[in-house]
Amino acid sequence: MTLSIRSRAPSASSPRIRQRMQGVPRRDTAAEILLRKCLFRLGLRYRLQSRPVADVPCTADIVLRSVRICVFIDGCFWHGCPRHFRAPSSNKSWWKEKIADNRMRDRRQSRRLRRSGWTVIRFWEHQIMNNAEACANRVFSAVRQRIGDGSR
Ligand SMILES: [Zn+2]
Repeated sequence: MTLSIRSRAPSASSPRIRQRMQGVPRRDTAAEILLRKCLFRLGLRYRLQSRPVADVPCTADIVLRSVRICVFIDGCFWHGCPRHFRAPSSNKSWWKEKIADNRMRDRRQSRRLRRSGWTVIRFWEHQIMNNAEACANRVFSAVRQRIGDGSR
């Protein structure tokens, strides 16, 4: 039997690593707050940390239910951003496996939500920190597209 990644977790070598390993979903990160502000300014209203589809076990960071759009803000560390993810120097291989597993789950969830008729938008944390307005505009265009689709 293969053991789950979690059960093979190495012991934390520092409080910072420990905190990361506990895997508590970070809410209200700087990137989330920034994007929310931009979306609000564009007149969009949304729910936070909500499950778009009842039978898909997945919570999106921002959900615009009436237009069936959900937005994920993927932290550069936890979601394995190709530009910024660096595995901690201790237990490197475990971390690589853990993050690869997270990425697989992200893709699986996006696929299931899309199949249920949702538009899924994922941003890297760094994209928002670099240009939150551009990210918000992308969401806004998706909303307009949805509204346009509905009126045809
Ligand atoms: Zn990044």
